[in-house]
Amino acid sequence: MNIRTRLTLLFVLLVASILLLFTVSIYYLYDQFRQQEFEQRLQEKAFITVRLREDVGEVPRADLPVMADEQVTIYNDQGIVLYNQGQQRPRLVIPPDFFRSVTLNHPQYIRVGELEAVGVLFVNSKKESLLIIASGNDRYGFSKLDRLREILFSGWLLSLVIVGIAGYLFATDALRPVAELIQQVNAISATNIHMRLHVGRQRDELADLARTFNDLLSRLEEAFVSQKSFVSHASHELRTPLTVMMGQIEVTRLQTRSAGEYESAFDALLDEVKSMIRLVNSLLDLARASSDATTIHYQPTRIDELLWQAQSQVLQKKQNCQINIDFESFPEKEEDLVILAEESLLQTAFQNLMENGCKYSANGRVSVRIALGVGRVQVTVSDTGLGIPPDDLPHIFEPFYRSDNTMTINGHGIGLALTRRIILLHRGQITVESVMGKGTTFRITLPVIRGLSSVSTSFSETELTKSTDVQKKQ
Ligand code: ADP
Repeated sequence: MNIRTRLTLLFVLLVASILLLFTVSIYYLYDQFRQQEFEQRLQEKAFITVRLREDVGEVPRADLPVMADEQVTIYNDQGIVLYNQGQQRPRLVIPPDFFRSVTLNHPQYIRVGELEAVGVLFVNSKKESLLIIASGNDRYGFSKLDRLREILFSGWLLSLVIVGIAGYLFATDALRPVAELIQQVNAISATNIHMRLHVGRQRDELADLARTFNDLLSRLEEAFVSQKSFVSHASHELRTPLTVMMGQIEVTRLQTRSAGEYESAFDALLDEVKSMIRLVNSLLDLARASSDATTIHYQPTRIDELLWQAQSQVLQKKQNCQINIDFESFPEKEEDLVILAEESLLQTAFQNLMENGCKYSANGRVSVRIALGVGRVQVTVSDTGLGIPPDDLPHIFEPFYRSDNTMTINGHGIGLALTRRIILLHRGQITVESVMGKGTTFRITLPVIRGLSSVSTSFSETELTKSTDVQKKQ
């Protein structure tokens, strides 16, 4: 059932219930009123009849107003009928209890079918108690009640039809902007992802929805465009060494070479292949770090040990590097250094920063400092090298972005994008400060797991968040 039908039905149901309650109340109250009025008339009839009979000795029938099926009977205290007037057919049969329940100041009322009766007690001048039963049929009252019922019921039905039509038109009008939004959204696809929904001047919920959807589209477009440029950059980075290799092979094959020449040609090819393998590995790491965080297996890891391992890996590759790891302040407990980490990924991140420090500084000196904060650990990787131009600083974490001043040095521009992604995956933060010609400092902050009562070996992203929150609260 669509929203329009549901809204209309709900509207009709609501109004129908309210109207029904109202109608039934009117009918019930009118019925009460009719009964009271007729009861009053019967009482008056009973008293007038008995007084006339007592005072005048007879009841002149023509002088009294007559009701339909009227019957007035006067009993003495022995239950003997003293007077009876009217020929009710069939007669109202009054139960004996009713006679007993009538007292001096408490007239009684009874209704059987359409006939109603009132019993009153009267004490005459001789102090005799007389019981008068006056009964009749309130034909006019009932016919008015029937008419009122018909009017109320047909009025109720008619208002339902009107409310149904009005509700349908109202729901259609209220939902028109939604239908328009659906139409606009359906027109957007990958080829025209730049298109946006028309928000209009209203400041209602639908305008908010359109705005939210437009924001989502902007984010998607950004991701889409960067994905496209990522693929073209990656293809370009892979094509360049392949072209170089093809050129080298073709030149080598032009003529027969000596064994030494072949050897140096193979060495050159090997360098290109190694560079390609490095790039492909970085891309694979980036893909892994960009995948769903819940699929990554986190383990409690000591940050200092991870840094020592990263240092030894970098030193194996770059012998001219000097990497010093220091503590700003020594931890009181070993747990102050334990973080939740995917070891190989986080080690890759620190390796990238250390390698960059070596690569982009003439002296190859890199200083790594570990500082402990409340619920977190901060690692600073700094060098005294070339520095990064201020204009490039906002972009260096983008994939394939490289500064002009380092173009002569080998690299693919993937390392920092990968590092940032890995740090974010570990719920950490990374910032950079750099002064041209003086050096560059990267600051990484990561949450430690101290304070958690139990540490499992597989942490989902939610658990990781919880652990971070716990730290913050302490
Ligand atoms: P790569 O080093 O392979 O070029 P990165 O993503 O690691 O790729 O770095 C991106 C760019 O950021 C580098 O090309 C360089 O211009 C700049 N950069 C990164 N680290 C440093 C540093 N320590 N000193 C100077 N420039 C740096």
